[in-house]
Amino acid sequence: MISVDRRKTVAVDIDGVVIGGSAPVVVQSMTNTDTADIEDTVEQIRQLADAGSELVRVTVNNEAAARGVPEIVGQLRAAGYSTPIIGDFHYNGHLLLRKFPDTASALSKFRINPGNVGTKHRDANFTKIIEVAVEHDKPIRIGVNWGSLDQRLLTELMDENAIRKSPKDGGEVVLEAMVESGLRSAKLAENNGLPHDKIVISTKVSSVRDMVSVYRILAARCDYPLHVGLTEAGLGAKGIVATTAGLAPLLLDGIGDTIRVSLTPRPGGDRTEEVRVAQQVLQSLGIRYFQPQVTSCPGCGRTTSTFFQEMAEEITEYISEMVPQWRKSYPGVEEMDVAVMGCVVNGPGESKHANIGISLPGTFEEPKAPVYIDGKHSVTLKGEELVQEFKTILLDYVKSTYGTDVETLVTVPKK
Ligand code: SF4
Repeated sequence: MISVDRRKTVAVDIDGVVIGGSAPVVVQSMTNTDTADIEDTVEQIRQLADAGSELVRVTVNNEAAARGVPEIVGQLRAAGYSTPIIGDFHYNGHLLLRKFPDTASALSKFRINPGNVGTKHRDANFTKIIEVAVEHDKPIRIGVNWGSLDQRLLTELMDENAIRKSPKDGGEVVLEAMVESGLRSAKLAENNGLPHDKIVISTKVSSVRDMVSVYRILAARCDYPLHVGLTEAGLGAKGIVATTAGLAPLLLDGIGDTIRVSLTPRPGGDRTEEVRVAQQVLQSLGIRYFQPQVTSCPGCGRTTSTFFQEMAEEITEYISEMVPQWRKSYPGVEEMDVAVMGCVVNGPGESKHANIGISLPGTFEEPKAPVYIDGKHSVTLKGEELVQEFKTILLDYVKSTYGTDVETLVTVPKK
């Protein structure tokens, strides 16, 4: 696979998790609990971190939330979680951070939306937050959002555009204003003493094509690391597809140092889905590896029974179940490809490309399933124990290929 040339950026250290520079693209997420509810928030951060979120942001919207932050961070550290916690501030960040110095100290980064720091005293309020960041040696993210774009700046750029010989489209000016808002805020932060390597920028919109455009403009104009994502991506398949469609071209161009997938969870839904989607985007693009992948064909009229689908699902579940242990004992296992194919049409070919693959018999084919290991036919399975036998072969492959300690005890769970 051709590697991606990442855009050159400064590295920003967020309490041990580095964004930009030569660091891998970082996956992050945000809680949707009331931050003042310490128990719920700690529990959700733990779930997000367990799912693989390397940074977690919490809203700090009022005094109760600000008061809760040191306790939240304290409980997480006591439970062994080192995940940096980021505070999300709008409107009153300059007041809360000054009033609650323990909160400023406990947070690993402050997110500031330059469109939401006031109108009359915009720069003064923004500067007050920067002063706290400098005092506590904290990095910031300047998080521009098109829904709360600095209207004074937008008007200024619209006016300039109107007197151009060939005025640009209004939508283009909005994107320019977003980039300008991020860069002017970064300059203001640096002018007030925040080091260059303490700044991450994002410019989030909810349209996929605008997202790609605005980040390309921003990337060309600075060397700050970029937090990339589609804001208000939406529910379910729409949110996942739209986010992936926006992230993919940017990440393949080397743009993006940390990503967040802003899915709307269904009521009572699992917040960690956004973490898994972010990981899957990176893994599908060959940028980072998180867990072994199962390649399976869609099935067709040649697979009239559900056995093939059930086996693909069972192998996927088995790998998900085993991967936390495997990661510890078998480094590199994240990059393994497993193929479960429905018949001989594409089955053997796909299986040979995978590290380990099985090609099941299609309708009217002989009831036997050849297994391929590293491109070579290894064994042919048949009978009722076929799935269990394939799991055993898979486990042996993991041990022999990625293992450093042959005595490591890992057992195949019986279904
Ligand atoms: S591999 Fe076979 S079963 Fe799977 S989609 Fe192709 S033809 Fe159909």
